Amino acid sequence: MPSSADTVELPSTRSPVRGAFDVIVGGSGSAGVCAALAAARQGAKTAIVEWLPNIGGIAATGLPILGNTYWQKGKLLSRGIPYELLMDLKAEDAYEGDPATQSYFCHDVDKYRLLAVRKLEEAGVEILTFTSVTGVLQEQGRITHLLVQQKEGAGAYAATVVIDCTGDADIAAYAGESFLPNEIDGHTQPPSLLFFVGGIDDTRVPGWAVIQKLWDDLRADEKWINPRGGEAISPPFGFPGKPGVLGFNVTRSLNVDATRTTELVRMEHEQRCQADEFFYRFLKPHVAGYENAYYSHAAILSGIRESRRVRGDYVMTREPIDNSEEFADAVAWGCYPVDRHSGVGGTTQLEGAAAQKEQSYYSIPFRVMVPARTPNLLMSGRCVSADELAFSAIRVMGITMQMGQAVGIGAAIAARDGLDVKRIPVDEVRDVLRSVDAFVERSD
Ligand SMILES: Cc1cc2nc3c(=O)[nH]c(=O)nc-3n(C[C@H](O)[C@H](O)[C@H](O)COP(=O)(O)OP(=O)(O)OC[C@H]3O[C@@H](n4cnc5c(N)ncnc54)[C@H](O)[C@@H]3O)c2cc1C
Repeated sequence: MPSSADTVELPSTRSPVRGAFDVIVGGSGSAGVCAALAAARQGAKTAIVEWLPNIGGIAATGLPILGNTYWQKGKLLSRGIPYELLMDLKAEDAYEGDPATQSYFCHDVDKYRLLAVRKLEEAGVEILTFTSVTGVLQEQGRITHLLVQQKEGAGAYAATVVIDCTGDADIAAYAGESFLPNEIDGHTQPPSLLFFVGGIDDTRVPGWAVIQKLWDDLRADEKWINPRGGEAISPPFGFPGKPGVLGFNVTRSLNVDATRTTELVRMEHEQRCQADEFFYRFLKPHVAGYENAYYSHAAILSGIRESRRVRGDYVMTREPIDNSEEFADAVAWGCYPVDRHSGVGGTTQLEGAAAQKEQSYYSIPFRVMVPARTPNLLMSGRCVSADELAFSAIRVMGITMQMGQAVGIGAAIAARDGLDVKRIPVDEVRDVLRSVDAFVERSD
């Protein structure tokens, strides 16, 4: 009989300290990679910690980078490291087309992973993949060590400043930060799993509107388990140098809290069943051009759109987005609209921000990356302090990369000068961004 106790006492152990860094970045998605590169390039001894075997996070699942997070009417918004990564991919034929005029562009994820590792190594960043952050040690609120689980067992890394880019704000949770509520319907946005199909006869495939209608018409008979319908099943996208191969972002799990393991387990299986359904029960038997197509593979894990958003002293809302606000502490820029997928079903709230309608853009302040409590913790990417609607606009890759770049510079300054994160001189961060051509001036 297994024990019926609700709690157990863990044996007290001593863990080896496996390294010490000025800046440790937790998570290697679009935000984490840019944060680590930026911190290291400012001279900070930097490490990046990732529980998966590979660098990349959602940016390496096959999703396209949205063009309008990079450019607004020919004006480059995602400057500095995000642009550098893109140009390096282009040099390797790892994406095609003209991103300045396209609404999205797909990159080769394997090339992206290799590029990211090469750049991190060149910058001197210690890469700690296969490493889960499992907790923090704190003294008077400051994080002294990140606790990790590795193949060798439990261990610790000492850090002067920590940046939480885990997407789920795991580090902020361990440090006792609080999180912003989901007030719209009580749920975060739903996750989706990308999958990839090859062998399509492009010449015979009907327009996507026809395919969407067919999917809806068949729903009553086929009883799809996938709740997405109509316009919510978005068109597939192609890849550089891979004719006849398309990526599909059409699945959706509802009512998922991505910070609970049992829900992740349910979600992952549900997503794979929906991908299987979409290809084997819908595309292949019903859609012209797919008769000889094959299911190539699915992404390594489902993409989590939203989980914990850390509460900072400042919480960004959608008004500054609609009003094309230029914050005094602006460190990132975007023109992507509110794009909130409902976590309980129903339609996606996709609303062109006023900024977009005016062919303008908005800024994102450094403050969204500063948590309320912990004096040496910053956060970026999906973890930022923004309400649900503001978050749904600034969560896209061009913007998360810019935020990562800015927070990395801020962390390096804080580590160098022994500053609490609320005292980081944001003017200096902006000057560094200017010096590497990563700053958008209104007069540009
Ligand atoms: C289905 C879907 C479709 C999207 N479509 C687009 C699109 O078309 N274009 C676009 O630009 N954006 C799109 N987005 C948004 C965008 O991709 C993400 O918001 C963005 O990439 C998030 O980046 P991030 O670095 O904050 O987080 P992530 O990419 O999630 O990275 C977090 C990293 O932290 C790691 N991690 C987590 N916990 C731990 C831990 N405890 N220890 C160690 N490591 C940990 C994870 O493994 C991961 O690598 C989409 C998102 C989803 C989910």
